[in-house]
Amino acid sequence: MIPMVNLKAQYAEIQAEIEQGLQETIANCSFILGPNVQAFEQEAAAYLGVKHAIGVASGTDALHLALIAEGIGPGDEVITTPFTFIATAEAIKYVGATPVFVDIDPKTFNIRPDAIAQAITPKTKAVMPVHLFGQPADMLGIQKICQAHGLKLIEDCCQSFGASIDGKQTGGLGDSAGFSFFPSKNLGAFGDGGLATTNSDETAAKIKMLRNHGSNVRYYHDAIGFNSRLDEMQAVILRVKLKRIEQYNQGRRRAAHLYSSLLADLPLETPYEDGMGVHVFHQYTLLSDRRDDLMQALQAAQIGCAIYYPVPLHQQNVFKAECAGVKLPVTESVAARCLSLPICPSLSDENIQRITDVIRQTLSV
Ligand SMILES: *Cc1c(COP(=O)(O)O)cnc(C)c1O
Repeated sequence: MIPMVNLKAQYAEIQAEIEQGLQETIANCSFILGPNVQAFEQEAAAYLGVKHAIGVASGTDALHLALIAEGIGPGDEVITTPFTFIATAEAIKYVGATPVFVDIDPKTFNIRPDAIAQAITPKTKAVMPVHLFGQPADMLGIQKICQAHGLKLIEDCCQSFGASIDGKQTGGLGDSAGFSFFPSKNLGAFGDGGLATTNSDETAAKIKMLRNHGSNVRYYHDAIGFNSRLDEMQAVILRVKLKRIEQYNQGRRRAAHLYSSLLADLPLETPYEDGMGVHVFHQYTLLSDRRDDLMQALQAAQIGCAIYYPVPLHQQNVFKAECAGVKLPVTESVAARCLSLPICPSLSDENIQRITDVIRQTLSV
């Protein structure tokens, strides 16, 4: 069996260091916002090249708290992509705002600046691009539109830890951003976790206050906040993995490039790297008109594969009514043809060969 991600192989390499760190934390009993959360926030901010990084309970919460801190609320419209995980739009709904879905680029699967520009109304307050599958969205184009129209720019970096454009990492390219440490993400915890980032002192102070019951000083509350802190045990694990994130992302890029060279002559579309930024391949996603045949063949060969995402957000039951009449042809076509293959730093060349052999054989009949 070749799984989508092999977390066990990664753990085997760092087990001793993680167990030592966890034992120290258990012995210290400093479980909430302890020294490891603080250290991780500093280390992550330094790595990402951003002024503030605030540990929170999940990627969804990071986006939610960032939206509140940016002042987005009821009646506001936030332009985003329909081709993403539901949490992007959930965070927008939590603050009472309306997600406005615009169509994507057929090659990068990210939202297009020209589609954003066309969707702006007097109610538009923010744009939330997703760096889907680890490839940065066209941030130069999106920044220009946000500046011209006075819109907040909040990046969904849940799939892009370590991705960059011109040496500048995602997470520092807008007003604020949210990262996820869900176990299968490029930087994954052993449970849920998230990070909000910003270069604004004011926004950082608000997010810090909101994640801890609206409090800066214990038992004094300035707002209705949340219980949304990054767990100290998760911070121990994340510190160990953060030291190796470059190596992990290199491993993903190596795997992706080998896949693409082995699949190059086949009638399918391998992932496009737009060259504007560094793609960190959270997913390796191809397009094929015979997607369902490929899926069946891979499953029969005990090879993991998945459809990210089978139903675009504007067609989900939860958004059907409010998106009635919305047609996003590129998104719909991509959702009908996309297939993600196993990818993680430890995926061996032999396994990549095996996987591409199954694809080759399937497409030859
Ligand atoms: C994983 C993910 C999220 C949510 O992160 P959680 O930590 O699971 O809450 C949000 N947006 C995108 C694009 C994601 O991939």
